[in-house]
Amino acid sequence: MGKGILVDIRDCRFDGEGRFRIGDYPTNAKEEKAKSDEYAARTAANRERMAQLQDKLYAEGREGLVILIQAMDAAGKDSTIRHVMSGVNPQGVDVYSFKQPSHEELAHDYLWRAVRHLPERGKIALFNRSYYEDVLVVRVHQMQKGYKMPDRCTGMDDDEFFSKRYRQIRDFEEYLWENGYRVLKVFLNVGKDEQRKRFLERIDNPTKNWKFSEGDLRERALWPQYMKAYEAAIDGTATKHAPWYVIPADQKWFARWLISEAIVAELEEMDPRYPEVSDDQRASLMQCRLQLTEQ
Ligand code: ATP
Ligand code: MG
Repeated sequence: MGKGILVDIRDCRFDGEGRFRIGDYPTNAKEEKAKSDEYAARTAANRERMAQLQDKLYAEGREGLVILIQAMDAAGKDSTIRHVMSGVNPQGVDVYSFKQPSHEELAHDYLWRAVRHLPERGKIALFNRSYYEDVLVVRVHQMQKGYKMPDRCTGMDDDEFFSKRYRQIRDFEEYLWENGYRVLKVFLNVGKDEQRKRFLERIDNPTKNWKFSEGDLRERALWPQYMKAYEAAIDGTATKHAPWYVIPADQKWFARWLISEAIVAELEEMDPRYPEVSDDQRASLMQCRLQLTEQ
């Protein structure tokens, strides 16, 4: 990617070609604030396009889409989901948030809960966090060391354990591709300074207090470890069929527009079409039409 200002979603795309370096991807596109209304209008236009395409996707029921969003706290996952998806028919979209795993979930393999929340083909699932937590927060906190599993699964060093997981995830996403799904992976890349500003706002603004917890500061203190984990995870799991989009998130209105661009582009590539009506079906529709006009 070039050094200049980001203007295009293609600049955010990493498909596994070469080595991924997180430092090459800015957190701030430095677009002029005066242009935020213009970008909001562009996002709104994309929302309409999304709604049209989603209607066809649902009618056709041929392919399913998983959109997953990963980010550090306060990067804007929730508000992005709300803004970008507000135009689509709720019947065709399921949103699922990946919280700390329950006992039942921990007693299964880590992809189990993701599989349980896959959409049926024709629908979109939006994952707020995802199975990538199992190579991010788990890696940063070395949670795998506490897993109750045979030695052949955990008895190895960190690099080997997570390299296996990256491979498992690549295989899983390829399996989905071969079974009529696409996975669109978004990393909302917020800067550490911008996170501080947003945390302060959460503390100062009583309507936002509920969004802040002391634990958020503990995770913030581990920023370099998280960036390392993100870098390794994105490098190890980006593929041609399931690339990552690393989106500068310091300016929310710009990030929203970029995500809407990525989703529209993906849906356009899926090229959903309304099912064609056969001659027989057309004839029967005409029969029904006749009956209706006579009654
Ligand atoms: P907000 O941005 O509003 O705080 P959130 O997505 O951070 O929303 P929380 O309930 O605050 O939601 O946090 C969910 C927590 O669950 C995160 O800290 C995340 O890292 C953790 N988590 C998710 N999946 C796993 C996992 N597989 N193993 C361990 N922790 C996980
Ligand atoms: Mg949180």
